[in-house]
Amino acid sequence: MSHRRDFLQAGFHIAGGILFTGCSLLRADPPAAGALLKRRLVTVGGKRIRTIDVHAHCIFPATLSSGSAPASTQSAQQVNPENLATRLRKMDEQGIDMQVLSINPTWYGMSRDAVGPFVQTQNEKLAEFCIANKERFTGLATVALQFPDLAAQQVAAGVKLGLRGVSIGGSVNGENLSAPQFNPFWAKAEEMGVLIFMHPQPVPQKRLEGNGALNNVINNPLETTIALSHLIFEGTLDRYPGLKLCAAHGGGYLPSYPERSDHGCTVIPEQCKGPTLKKRPSEYMRQLYFDSLVFSAEGLRHLAAEAGASQIMMGTDYPFPWTTTAVDHILTAPGFTNAQRRAMLGETAARLLMM
Ligand SMILES: [Zn+2]
Repeated sequence: MSHRRDFLQAGFHIAGGILFTGCSLLRADPPAAGALLKRRLVTVGGKRIRTIDVHAHCIFPATLSSGSAPASTQSAQQVNPENLATRLRKMDEQGIDMQVLSINPTWYGMSRDAVGPFVQTQNEKLAEFCIANKERFTGLATVALQFPDLAAQQVAAGVKLGLRGVSIGGSVNGENLSAPQFNPFWAKAEEMGVLIFMHPQPVPQKRLEGNGALNNVINNPLETTIALSHLIFEGTLDRYPGLKLCAAHGGGYLPSYPERSDHGCTVIPEQCKGPTLKKRPSEYMRQLYFDSLVFSAEGLRHLAAEAGASQIMMGTDYPFPWTTTAVDHILTAPGFTNAQRRAMLGETAARLLMM
């Protein structure tokens, strides 16, 4: 019955003003009778697993309508109208016990004076919602990464509110996250031991216009590939080896083609005068984390071969409709042990989220 209570509490939080990406809770329907009976409980090898989706989005209408958000915010977040009841029903059907909510950053262009209260409001609202619905949702703090010292403070403040980590973009106003000015943020995140979820926010490219949604399909994983490559090659991951950094969309293209990264400095040494790395570039994938959003069993097998199954956590991208079979993807891909499946489905996320 506690699930039902949470469900109803979530309904009351409609007035609290959370909006799941394009999903107005102001329009949330009362839970349909019997809806919760359909909840799929996932077991692996006879053991019940709390499944955790580390890649799920939401936004807050209060902050969007405050006028302080960039104009691009709403258009960047538009998907089919949804609501909380629908979200819970889909989670129940798919066997997802918990979503880790993050808000894609659209405030990296805001001034310091404006972005402080903006981020604080978002974090307070997200924390309030997650605490009230803690069986099904937890959240990641948002930060003003264009002011890395402020971002460091906001991570700490967000965790104090009850959030379990931090979400960031793959670059900040054209700056790579390996640039020295971001060191205070990385240092704080490492010191606190929090999960960092990195989600791409690429600048649209003219050549990716046209048929095929390439500004998403290619540009998003490309952004992640570039971001991770700089963090490797500029020595950020050597400087902060304790970072718990998870890249969205299976890490983009990097895990697909890592050996080229290993060969580059051998073939073109004149362009490798930066820091001397402590290990081969491809080996850094074993200290990074990735979501499982790679679609095919072969993709998952390869990601695990490069990074280790211990580095993969289930991700859906909800409410963007990229997959409805994230649980089965992990349950049915051949070649994994039960322990590895349990880790990918939820145990690794639970450990990194300290829950
Ligand atoms: Zn996403």
